[in-house]
Amino acid sequence: MRNSEKLIQKLRESRNLTDTEFRLLLMDDTCNKILAQHADAVRREQYGTAVYLRGLIEFTNYCKNDCFYCGIRHSNTNAVRYRLTKEEILECCEEGYALGFRTFVLQGGEDPYFTDERLCEIISVIRVKYPDCAITLSIGEKSRESYQAYFDAGANRYLLRHETADIAHYTKLHPSGMSCKKRKNCLFQLREIGYQVGAGMMIGAPYQTLDHLIEDLRFLQELNPQMIGIGPFLSHKDTPFRDFHNGELESVLKLLGILRLMFPKVLLPATTALGTLHPEGRELGLQMGANVIMPNLSPMSVRRKYMLYDNKICTGDESAQQYRALARRVESVGYHVEMGRGDAKGFELS
Ligand code: SAH
Repeated sequence: MRNSEKLIQKLRESRNLTDTEFRLLLMDDTCNKILAQHADAVRREQYGTAVYLRGLIEFTNYCKNDCFYCGIRHSNTNAVRYRLTKEEILECCEEGYALGFRTFVLQGGEDPYFTDERLCEIISVIRVKYPDCAITLSIGEKSRESYQAYFDAGANRYLLRHETADIAHYTKLHPSGMSCKKRKNCLFQLREIGYQVGAGMMIGAPYQTLDHLIEDLRFLQELNPQMIGIGPFLSHKDTPFRDFHNGELESVLKLLGILRLMFPKVLLPATTALGTLHPEGRELGLQMGANVIMPNLSPMSVRRKYMLYDNKICTGDESAQQYRALARRVESVGYHVEMGRGDAKGFELS
């Protein structure tokens, strides 16, 4: 048996490898086929063929942060800014609910207009109107008190990618005011409060090395999140990283497979970025152990404005309104969509 195959089997059995073994696996660009077989088997053991859908509402692209990779960074004066009103957000939920969605993900830049008071008001109205739905937030770094207030208002889940677990690498991706330690700390606070949390990183981000990826895996082991969001880095023309290469399809797939074997029960999205990188990116992701897709529920009029990276897909099958077409694509590779809340295994009641 080939070396990588042995490593993949070991990873599946023990859910872990040494740093040296991880490095060997990450360096072998011929092992994705066998990795997919194992990752898919583990996903079927845990979740069968279910692919959970989440309705993504991108409710503001104002952001006070200046992350070097992100198209809606504060300094990008070419970005056309928008924010949805409470009524517009509720309309998105209404439309999503009617389509069958039972998880709403409110994502946005760090927009000071949305004070805790405004956010809590929105969250509590959604909570009262849709008691059977999960409310997921993805609105960046906040104080513990704020996280607690959103939780008390009815939010259940929080997506906050750590972006990179390596302090030196973090400072190459972010301006000096932002800190890796602070971001990780936010994740631990969210978990303590009782959220189901999602962390994650971009694959192929500028200056990223294999050792950084191994650090990411170690951090994820320490945090043990319910969700892990990964996708390729994709460059945006109006950012300092405009000249960097996009992340590679095979690298993202490799990491998805590794994550499925390390965290059998984790919720693992086949991300929009993966679908942007390659027309069949998300189908390939599903075949590598991914089991979540987050179709876009934002109003059509703002979709093109939430451009985190160039060419972000937003009006085709990733559109919540088109979820039947998406369902067919999911079925074409042997899975089926589930519209229910789809909590992580072991967290069904939270
Ligand atoms: N403001 C929120 C949401 C950020 S957008 C927060 O801070 O968490 C969601 C994710 O998009 C980010 O966490 C980042 O990992 C990803 N993203 C941003 N710019 C990107 C780019 N150029 N390529 C790929 N992914 C990107």
